[in-house]
Amino acid sequence: MSTFVERTWLSVLGVGVAVAGLALTIAAIASPPDPAELADLPESGGDLTDLETTALFGSYLALAGFALIGIASVATRVGNMPLPSLKQCPDCAKRVPAAANVCRFCGYRFDQSATPPT
Ligand SMILES: [Zn+2]
Repeated sequence: MSTFVERTWLSVLGVGVAVAGLALTIAAIASPPDPAELADLPESGGDLTDLETTALFGSYLALAGFALIGIASVATRVGNMPLPSLKQCPDCAKRVPAAANVCRFCGYRFDQSATPPT
């Protein structure tokens, strides 16, 4: 099932991005600023140092990763639910669109009052 594979990859990607972002943030926060290295680098043009920029970028990356994990888990939950847009014909047991009034396989007429619109 291709959709399952896509959701799995989304989840894996989310974990990867989150871990990378966290690692980047921790590395940037943990490592003390090196004045010699900072002096060699061209001016970043802001108030933030390169390490602060890296930490900020890392935290955003981690947030994006967690968002991806959330999307993947929600997509998995939704994907495991039966499709709400289909209903089963009581006469021939075929699946037809929930909005259908007549079964396209056997011509069964659905009772309108029994199937309230969703
Ligand atoms: Zn039918």
